[in-house]
Amino acid sequence: MNASSGAARRVPYVDLAGQHAPIKDEILAAIEKVLLRGDFILGEEVATFERNFAEYCGAPHVVALRSGTDALTLALRALGVGAGDEAITAPNSFVASAAAIALAGARPVFADVRDDYNIDPDAVEKAITPHTKAVVAVHLTGRPADMDALVDLCRRKGLHLIEDAAQAAGAEYRGRKVGSFGVGCFSFHPLKTLSACGDGGALATSDPRLAERVRVLRNLGLRDRDHCVEFAAHSRLDTVQAALLNVKLKYLDTWNDIRRGHAQLYTRLLHGIVDYAPADKPHEKAVYHTYVIRAKRRDSLRGALADRGVDAKVHYPIPIHLQEAAKDLGCKPGDFPQTERQAKEILSLPVHQGLAREDIEYVAAAIWEALS
Ligand SMILES: *Cc1c(COP(=O)(O)O)cnc(C)c1O
Repeated sequence: MNASSGAARRVPYVDLAGQHAPIKDEILAAIEKVLLRGDFILGEEVATFERNFAEYCGAPHVVALRSGTDALTLALRALGVGAGDEAITAPNSFVASAAAIALAGARPVFADVRDDYNIDPDAVEKAITPHTKAVVAVHLTGRPADMDALVDLCRRKGLHLIEDAAQAAGAEYRGRKVGSFGVGCFSFHPLKTLSACGDGGALATSDPRLAERVRVLRNLGLRDRDHCVEFAAHSRLDTVQAALLNVKLKYLDTWNDIRRGHAQLYTRLLHGIVDYAPADKPHEKAVYHTYVIRAKRRDSLRGALADRGVDAKVHYPIPIHLQEAAKDLGCKPGDFPQTERQAKEILSLPVHQGLAREDIEYVAAAIWEALS
């Protein structure tokens, strides 16, 4: 009960404490082992997590890193994408997708998205210039991007394909896990479905040489204890975080399935009242990191939901090409009409694995009440 608003129920957008309660003992036991051993940097559990996550993703090599942003940045750097090069990404993503391109020393170039929030391969093709070296395709909301078209395009044009799978661990495209098509970049930020208790990330690849180069780049460019082959920062996943990720990885499929169930229920209940509700195409298995509807009266809907105890979010209100950080990239309002229109209408409903069916029904009923 929320006494101040008189709402019948409270539906929080996230519940990290609730997520950890049932697995607390398992997590603490895993952390205790690390404490007693003391191998905090690149310790035993980091290697174990790399093997476990490689098996999970169906990618031969995984390198555990400090964050998803580091995974993207080191992927680009290890592929030789840098000064004078361009990489194409989606303007509706989290800022990190474009930031990583800039951090690697290259220029972010944007291509508009489709109805399902993922990059439009035709728009990517039009954005290619003689400087283009890579495409950073984002599996936004946990839905796979159009991999058939993007893999084919990158092959035809000789471009590297990097997958920003930060929101999509476990998502599948034609039965194959995302992150295994190109160079897969994952984030374990606390708000992702597979999350560390702090920052974390990983890079997945089928290329052993690329994996080896990233292993060196994540550790100050040190080939071994005494030999530095190129200057770099440290971008390592902490052993403690790897230990608890090993525990949580066992639950990821269950959590993704619960989110998928919530999403399907929402889409059924919201039919006929919202302007857009997401749904899987037959060849997709989306994992619904976010469940993003569209409504013309988005802001008043969000307010009405807040009055009823429902916390909804906007991912993201300002497209990347219109951010102050992008002022030197030469973009202007109107450049990416689909992204800009969506930014005004999108609303992310609570969809986390701690919610019950009744919560989803309550949110859907509140939306009918607010919009009818
Ligand atoms: C979270 C996220 C990232 C960045 O991950 P960090 O681990 O926070 O660096 C990159 N891209 C997308 C789409 C994300 O959602």
